[in-house]
Amino acid sequence: MRFKRILLKLSGESLMGEQQYGIDTNMLVQYAEEIKSAVDLGAEVAVVIGGGNIFRGVQAEAVGLDRVQGDYMGMLATVINSMALQSALEKVGIFTRLLSGINIQQVCEPYIRRRAMRHLEKGRVVIFGAGTGNPYFTTDSAASLRAIEIEADVVLKGTRVDGIYTADPEKDASAVRYEDITFEEVFEKGLNVMDMTAFTLCKENNLPIVVFDINKKGNLARLIQGERVGTLVSM
Ligand code: UDP
Repeated sequence: MRFKRILLKLSGESLMGEQQYGIDTNMLVQYAEEIKSAVDLGAEVAVVIGGGNIFRGVQAEAVGLDRVQGDYMGMLATVINSMALQSALEKVGIFTRLLSGINIQQVCEPYIRRRAMRHLEKGRVVIFGAGTGNPYFTTDSAASLRAIEIEADVVLKGTRVDGIYTADPEKDASAVRYEDITFEEVFEKGLNVMDMTAFTLCKENNLPIVVFDINKKGNLARLIQGERVGTLVSM
C-alpha cells in the first residue's frame, strides 16, 4: 500500500450533488462507499468535510453580519455534514468517531490528538468536525493541520476535477493536467490547489497533497494502492 494513513478532504459544496442547497443522499452514499473501499484495504482514514453547501463565513459579511459569527456558523455547518457522513458510514458497516474542534459534547467527542490517533490505530474512521475550531480559517486549513498532527502520509483532496491543470479546465479547453508538481512550482505558477494558509502548512511540513476526482468510482482505492491518480504535489 502506498499510503497507509490518509486524510481525505471532501468539499461541502459537492455534497449538494444536483441540488441547490443541503445534502444529497446519493452523494453521501457514494462518499461512504469510497471510504469503505479504502478501509477494506487496511488504510487508516481520517476525513475533513467542508460546510460550503450550508454556510460560509464570507456570506455573513456580504449580508452585513459579523464575520467571526459567520465563521462559527460555517464551522457548525461542517458538523452537520460530518454527522451525515458518520451515519452514512455506519450504514455501510464502518466504525466511526466524530471529533469536533468546538465542544458539542452531545454529538461529538472533543478533538484530542492522542485519541484521534488511537481511533485510527483501531481501524475507526475519524471525522474531524468544526474545522480548526477557529474563525478566519477554512476546512482546507483544517485538513492540512489535522493531517500533520496525526502524522498522515498524505492529504487527499477529493474534487470534481481529476487534478491540477495549467488553467481552469472548466473554463479553458487547452488546459493540461500535471501528473506531478512541486510545492515551489505551484507558487511560481500561481495555481489554485488550496488556500495559501493550508498549502503553506503542507509545504513547510513536507506533507504531500494529491488532488483527484472523488466522483470517479474506485479512485480512492486505486490511489492508496499506488496507482497514478490525479496530481501529486510534493517537495
Ligand atoms: N471555517 C472556519 N474555520 C475553520 C474551518 C471553517 O471559520 O477552521 C468556516 C468558514 O467560514 C468557512 C466555513 O466554515 O467558510 C465552511 O468551510 P469551507 O468554506 O472550508 O467549506 P467547503 O468550501 O470545503 O465546502
